[in-house]
Amino acid sequence: MTFKNLGLSNNLLKAIDKKGYTTPSPIQEKAIPPVLEGKDVLASAQTGTGKTAGFTLPLLHLLSEQKALRHRPVRALILTPTRELAAQIFANVKEYSEFLDLRSAVIFGGVNQKPQIANLKRGMDVLVATPGRLLDLHNQRFLSLDKVEIFVLDEADRMLDMGFLRDIERVMKLIPAKRQNLMFSATFSKDIKKLAHGILNNPIQVEA
Ligand code: AMP
Repeated sequence: MTFKNLGLSNNLLKAIDKKGYTTPSPIQEKAIPPVLEGKDVLASAQTGTGKTAGFTLPLLHLLSEQKALRHRPVRALILTPTRELAAQIFANVKEYSEFLDLRSAVIFGGVNQKPQIANLKRGMDVLVATPGRLLDLHNQRFLSLDKVEIFVLDEADRMLDMGFLRDIERVMKLIPAKRQNLMFSATFSKDIKKLAHGILNNPIQVEA
């Protein structure tokens, strides 16, 4: 299997090549095709399996096929539990989108919000965020979420462990009901299954 066979665009293949990836990892092989088809995906994958590229590459492909919206409101929202993960995912998004006409931003708590607000004002297609800071900046009217088409919930089990359930539910109320959803979790407890049931629509299930 190659990344080209998975159906990714040439501009993404160029970025993948630059990263030095030669073959897709198992989770990428399984997750990328259904995401490209617009399906909801529920993936069981740990960190280190290549899951970040598993959702980022097809999401960037889908966004780059459409015309960017005026003022660049968020079209893809990636929610992750910690600032370290947010920074890592954002770095990946930047690298994979090097040859695409897409903008991205990252917001997370524990740091001054001013530089983050300045970035949001420039507009973006992809936003990587931790839940608390996202809700905080939304409450202050620094971003709107009503054009979100793709929603990614990364490390769902850690989100619940860290007590983010209520925040996730609040975010869900701010994004359009009609959207594509991708959810990644290393474990599948009863609570995670319940969360998945509330978020995903007829998901394709894949495992690393
Ligand atoms: P992740 O599980 O998303 O945190 O990725 C783990 C590491 O694997 C990261 O350093 C990625 O850059 C790397 N990686 C992701 N996909 C591939 C691939 N197809 N081939 C080689 N390395 C990869």
